[in-house]
Amino acid sequence: MKIAFFSTKSYDRESFSHFLKNSGHEITYFEAKLDKHTVYLAEGHEAVCSFVNDKIDATMLKKLSQLSVKLIALRCAGYNHIDLSAAAENGIKIVRVPAYSPEAVAEHAFALILTLSRKTHKAYNRVRENNFSLEGLTGFNIHGKTIGVIGTGAIGKAFCRIAKGFGCEILAYDIFESEEMKELGVKYLSIDDVLRQSQIISLHCPLNPDTHHMINSKTISQLQDGVMLINTSRGALVETKAVIKALKERKIGFLGIDVYEQEEHIFFKNLSEEIMQDEQIARLMTFPNVLVTGHQAFLTKEALEQIAKITLENISAFDNGQTLINEIKAS
Ligand code: NAD
Repeated sequence: MKIAFFSTKSYDRESFSHFLKNSGHEITYFEAKLDKHTVYLAEGHEAVCSFVNDKIDATMLKKLSQLSVKLIALRCAGYNHIDLSAAAENGIKIVRVPAYSPEAVAEHAFALILTLSRKTHKAYNRVRENNFSLEGLTGFNIHGKTIGVIGTGAIGKAFCRIAKGFGCEILAYDIFESEEMKELGVKYLSIDDVLRQSQIISLHCPLNPDTHHMINSKTISQLQDGVMLINTSRGALVETKAVIKALKERKIGFLGIDVYEQEEHIFFKNLSEEIMQDEQIARLMTFPNVLVTGHQAFLTKEALEQIAKITLENISAFDNGQTLINEIKAS
């Protein structure tokens, strides 16, 4: 099949070109994001391969259908950016990569926790200037802390296993409880109890109408003073304005985010020579106890290989008229 590949980065080309050989498919790589200005690049391709910030709404799906696109292969797990009903109406199938390396994201969540708890981001800069003073670098142990996990799917489970190794008490909330996690020692509670009792909270549920702004001024008021909040899932799970207020009031003691509500205007780009126009991210970056990474939790060699392999398998299954095991549909 001919595939129009949007939002291409060098690491995508590298991983896909390896699996493309002998696949029978042909990829045209576009650096551009898929939007109303670039959608026409899909002409002459039966499939589109897109990433997390290629917002695919009803208008876009209609245009893609007019261009004879039959399949959208998401090279990601989350699909909050796709209008699934409009895809069905326009006869376009959507496939995704449900789990490529849950450990990659879970380990990144822990990297944020450890950096914030041991202030290694500050130590790194200090030592490079020959400043070996330890003043202000006092951290805290993760061992013995109560960690709250919201969403114990593939990534949440991997996260719980790591937390167990650190000797944490693990509380969790999910709309479906996992027996495997209970056997590991994870205690399921109501979302309110998890938020109230945890010293560290990590979000691993999908973004949908039920979870949008689940961390807001009301839920923040239930949190322990000085709590650490980690979000590697989707930016809009958290109401950024409320979190900034809580950081100023020291209600939230540490914030580690790999995702941001307005990230589609900022992430995956080099803006180092630009003037930052987003006031909220600019404000977040001023806090010494906030760590922001630009949606890189998935970015490991192992995960990229799985993404390329599974995406091309999804496309081959469609091409061969086989069952689409990774298809997503409107519920
Ligand atoms: P998953 O589908 O395996 O697990 C999601 C879990 O959330 C499920 O157990 C589900 O029951 C639960 N859930 C659904 N609604 C909920 C609710 N209202 N409250 C609590 N739990 C709820 O997904 P996953 O692979 O673990 O991924 C989780 C999320 O991580 C994805 O949706 C995606 O947004 C994000 N993600 C981020 C990156 C990154 O690079 N930062 C990479 C991959 C995935």
